[in-house]
Amino acid sequence: MLVHDFVVVGGGLAGLSAAIEAKKRGIDVALVSKIHPVRSHSGAAQGGVNAALGNAEGSKDDTPERHAYDTVKGSDFLADQDAVKIMCDAAPGIILELEHMGLPFSRTKEGKIAQRPFGGQGVPRTCYGSDRTGLYMLNTLYEQSVKYKVKTYVEFFVTKLVVQNDRCHGVICFNLESGEFVPIAAKAVMFATGGSGRVYSANTTNAHTSTGLGVALAYWAGVPIKDFEFIQFHPTGLYPSSILMTEGCRGEGGYLVNNKGERFMKNYVSEKVMELAPRDIVARSMQTEIIEGRGFEDAYLHLDLRHLGEAKIRERLPGIRDLSMNFVGVDPVKDPIPVRPSQHYTMGGIDTNEKTETEITGFYAAGECACASVHGSNRLGGNSLLETVVFGKIGGGVISDFAKDAAAPKDGPMKDGLKEEQARFEACTKGSGDENPYDIKTELSQLLDDKVGIFRNKADMEAATQKIRELKKRFEKVRPIKTNKTFNYDFLWMSEIAGNLDAAQIVAEGALVREESRGAHFRTDFPKRRDDPWMKHTIARYSADGPVLSYKEVRMGQFEPEERKY
Ligand SMILES: Cc1cc2nc3c(=O)[nH]c(=O)nc-3n(C[C@H](O)[C@H](O)[C@H](O)COP(=O)(O)OP(=O)(O)OC[C@H]3O[C@@H](n4cnc5c(N)ncnc54)[C@H](O)[C@@H]3O)c2cc1C
Repeated sequence: MLVHDFVVVGGGLAGLSAAIEAKKRGIDVALVSKIHPVRSHSGAAQGGVNAALGNAEGSKDDTPERHAYDTVKGSDFLADQDAVKIMCDAAPGIILELEHMGLPFSRTKEGKIAQRPFGGQGVPRTCYGSDRTGLYMLNTLYEQSVKYKVKTYVEFFVTKLVVQNDRCHGVICFNLESGEFVPIAAKAVMFATGGSGRVYSANTTNAHTSTGLGVALAYWAGVPIKDFEFIQFHPTGLYPSSILMTEGCRGEGGYLVNNKGERFMKNYVSEKVMELAPRDIVARSMQTEIIEGRGFEDAYLHLDLRHLGEAKIRERLPGIRDLSMNFVGVDPVKDPIPVRPSQHYTMGGIDTNEKTETEITGFYAAGECACASVHGSNRLGGNSLLETVVFGKIGGGVISDFAKDAAAPKDGPMKDGLKEEQARFEACTKGSGDENPYDIKTELSQLLDDKVGIFRNKADMEAATQKIRELKKRFEKVRPIKTNKTFNYDFLWMSEIAGNLDAAQIVAEGALVREESRGAHFRTDFPKRRDDPWMKHTIARYSADGPVLSYKEVRMGQFEPEERKY
């Protein structure tokens, strides 16, 4: 058994930030990741990261308070305002810290960090490195983790969070290279396992690694999951692959156009805001255009960048141009890009407070898998990269303090956990079942796309929850897995699909019960926000019969709920 004071699961921006902070404070920390850290999906982030620096023309008077207001309004008032304040106040400092680490931000003429407009924010606030911001951030932080000698276990796939009597003792990993289970005991564990987009189908901007298993592992271990029904659809996924075309395209001045050649956003929001309304509103407007027959081939719309000119596209959006040319043969300098709304982000996740603590002693979560409630029911673009580095760092500090005095983890629960996982593996290799797990996954994802998508209603979601129960029953009869010792991806995917099923169930059951429309959760049968009784967080707890739902108060602050007009 390996033993460390602190184990971080996840090598993306949240995990790296936590590990570096703890290491700087002299804690024995190990980072575990199923893929190499620099292949984490944070690297796919393009558009930028928010901070009220006031560097751009039009944002000189920006403040963290205005950033907080935009975030709370964008969240449709479901965000916890103390957590939002912490994030927005920390933003300018953390961006400068990243700059000092060597992050190659794009620059203004005066040499300051450049900022571009993003949706739902009145001023240009989004700091960027061309259209490769996440990649630059990830490589910068990975370099720091090497500098600080963070111990890293790569291609270690965590299959169990060990919790006994409300105390976390460590994780059980499956070493993909050796095919052995490796228990890692720790005084504190943080999950920074990323998003859950692949619970939905191929129409997602998320990598195949963003499966939601971290959320499911926490759920199975008794940790509550918060607000998981709120799923963000990004307006501009490339059609048909759904590779992201960053919001930065619209931030730089790109237009959305329907098959009548019309900039249709003027029919949904004020002419001042247009394409830079928050994502939930733009995605719904686009979907309406497609449903009502104003799309191309009934499937997509146009993102038109031609008026920006070649020089600007080459300088600010070179990655977008490459992707568009390589994947659909469209050069945005000459032709509009085909786009449609695509699943993009999970606002909910493992229930944490603003210190990344969960209700289980010694277990923490940060980044997209967590829900510190800074996004409420709709995230503003540029706030997720910010959340990862702010709360990753905060968590690293909180855990360092905890680990200094905490008792050592217990062997007993770790040995039990190891035996359970070995027995599960054995069971997966045997049996007479003949269901194909990948067919179950395909059906599940299609179901969520069709029935728990941008527009939702009771009948569809009842059908979805019923079907998920049937799929879970069928999953009990899956065929035996392959038995290769090294790189047994059949076992990995079997575990991921088990997680997908429960993650999907939490989304669908929570969405069915929430009879209102708020942020990204739009019910055609309840089209209005209903603060009474729905201004509250959904909490889902595991039971063998499906999630048990309860509700938790939203922590309000200086911003009173108002009608959300743009
Ligand atoms: C295409 C795209 C573009 C985006 N652009 C922006 C943007 O411009 N601005 C913005 O603010 N946000 C953006 N986002 C959102 C943002 O990038 C993510 O929310 C954020 O990077 C997530 O970081 P993370 O550290 O939480 O997770 P990730 O970077 O996804 O890392 C997750 C880590 O967990 C590990 N892991 C997961 N499960 C296990 C397991 N069972 N065992 C071991 N390891 C495991 C993985 O190996 C990985 O290292 C974008 C998202 C996408 C998909």
